[in-house]
Amino acid sequence: MNWLVQIVGHVRDFFRPRYRAVYSDDLPDILVRQKVYLIGEDRDPWQAAMVCPCGCEAKIQLSLVPDDEPSWRAAVDGAGIVTLHPSIWRTRGCYAHFFIHQGKIKWAKDSGRAH
Ligand SMILES: [Zn+2]
Repeated sequence: MNWLVQIVGHVRDFFRPRYRAVYSDDLPDILVRQKVYLIGEDRDPWQAAMVCPCGCEAKIQLSLVPDDEPSWRAAVDGAGIVTLHPSIWRTRGCYAHFFIHQGKIKWAKDSGRAH
């Protein structure tokens, strides 16, 4: 029955809400889950922000400035679905380590470990 478990997993994955972009001039005080906030004027974001997907509710802020170290690249498709590159690994708290690819969270095997 392993195949059935796999199919159920795929179906569940298909219907899981994807992370979508929200453009904002300033970082909002309260962030909503399943959103990636792209902060900057004229849709030219310099920062991405989101709630940690592990459930710890931490606010994650990522620089999109290419010269910053580290910095990330955000790609948004026509439906507002977000891809972030490279992966996000929190340096404190929950140490969540994950990828956001086409709006979906993919957990790294070493997530939760300090680095
Ligand atoms: Zn977390």
